[in-house]
Amino acid sequence: MSTTATTTSKITGHYIGGQTIQDSNNGFIEVFSPIDGSMIGKVPRGGADEIDQAVSKAQAAFLEWGTLPVKQRVQILFKFKQLLENDIDEISDLVSQENGKTHAESKAEVAKGIEVTEFATSLPQILQQETLEVSRGVYCEQKRFPLGVVAGITPFNFPAMVPLWMIPIALATGNTFILKPSEQVPLTANLLGEYLSQAGLPDGAFNVVHGGKEAVEAITDHPGIKAVGFVGSSRVAKIVYDRSTLQGKRALALGGAKNHLIVMPDADPEITASNVVASAYGCAGQRCMAASVLILVGESGHILERIINEGRKVQAGENMGPVISKHARERIESYIDDAQKAGGNILLDGRGAVVPGKETGTYVNPTIIDGLPPSDKSACDEIFGPVLTVLRAKTLDEALEIENASPYGNAAAIYTTNGGSARYFSDMASAGMIGVNIGVPVPREPFSFGGWNGSRFGYGDITGMDGVSFWTKSKKITTKWTASTAKNWMS
Ligand code: NAD
Repeated sequence: MSTTATTTSKITGHYIGGQTIQDSNNGFIEVFSPIDGSMIGKVPRGGADEIDQAVSKAQAAFLEWGTLPVKQRVQILFKFKQLLENDIDEISDLVSQENGKTHAESKAEVAKGIEVTEFATSLPQILQQETLEVSRGVYCEQKRFPLGVVAGITPFNFPAMVPLWMIPIALATGNTFILKPSEQVPLTANLLGEYLSQAGLPDGAFNVVHGGKEAVEAITDHPGIKAVGFVGSSRVAKIVYDRSTLQGKRALALGGAKNHLIVMPDADPEITASNVVASAYGCAGQRCMAASVLILVGESGHILERIINEGRKVQAGENMGPVISKHARERIESYIDDAQKAGGNILLDGRGAVVPGKETGTYVNPTIIDGLPPSDKSACDEIFGPVLTVLRAKTLDEALEIENASPYGNAAAIYTTNGGSARYFSDMASAGMIGVNIGVPVPREPFSFGGWNGSRFGYGDITGMDGVSFWTKSKKITTKWTASTAKNWMS
């Protein structure tokens, strides 16, 4: 890992109406790089006043942006996509600085954001109006309209990708947007604003307001904001969903996860081991799609040894980044402590990781917990770190019972060489995104991203056509024109 953090006390302001606003009535939030704990910037702590200013600017911009033909709007997104592609390394550097993930991981997340942008540029092809002659001379037409000013609230683990799940589709469909990024990784958001502005987006069509709970509550409560997209933990997702819908807003809130990977006795040991390890320890386990429970079915125990060996090849500070903060590291390590106290075998122990030269960084090495029942909290709670809990089941049905009992439902995967087992698992697992021999089954666009159960509050997915539906309202126009002649087109 070549990334190092650059210490700076530079203020990155709110971005409202095309202006950077560095003043704050509520103080500033310091931003630390988890790579070495150094302070890499500050952002003002916004609240109701800043959200109100952003709504005014976004409302003014909507008057023009919302009425442009979609073909015209996506011209800006073509340019935006090109800028992201040209500068992918610089953007990835900033993502790595504030989040800690490796450069390759940052690049992959920016690339996924580019893919969503590409989908948004295809909307003129997708949004051709549907028209039908519903009775003689009577035509019914469905047209989609933007909602107005909408907002996105995003988590720390994907500073570029998660905002880009929302921004391109919401803008292409004619909305104007307010982003409230995670206060732990707020800097990439402003960079996205700069690229949108360079691409020619009118001032006020995209805004960034920094802050925490107060800014979020100001979004949920502001009558000028018509829809809220949220991605974060299930606890906060439910709060944001409830509060937004209570105010009559449309809301979609994606939450946390506990993803199960099922290994069948016929699985390819080599492919399975490297894939499980990549899923569990990529981005230091801080992905809502990360493997966190491994269920070995029947005689598949021999694969565990390979997984442990593969896991040893992943080293914090070398090919794995830190976890986001000291608080996160303490929380993750306390789960490992408790699993040990409960009688678990810690087959790989990632506690106490220290990276030479980066002693103040917040690292945890790959961990594997074995020997505890499915009811143990290490097998049920979202730990959100590089920790894999191993369970055993006699049959695939028993494994499915464990998976189905989880209150979450983001992703689940099976490793097998049997098509029947794969099909059965895909149908019976209680999750929105299923992998067969793929441990991070993120759907590629235009297939949409979204989980089930307690991993999502609201209806639909956040990207793809569901994203288009979420950010628009449809109007049905029925028209009758009476021809002056009795002739029809056949006479
Ligand atoms: P978080 O819920 O702590 O924060 C998310 C956002 O909510 C941030 O912008 C934060 O400022 C705001 N927030 C925090 N507490 C709040 C409160 N009490 N009231 C109002 N707003 C509040 O999540 P995080 O720790 O930043 O991100 C990690 C979580 O996000 C994990 O649970 C992960 O699974 C989840 N996640 C889910 C998906 C998905 O697609 N389902 C994708 C990425 C991350």
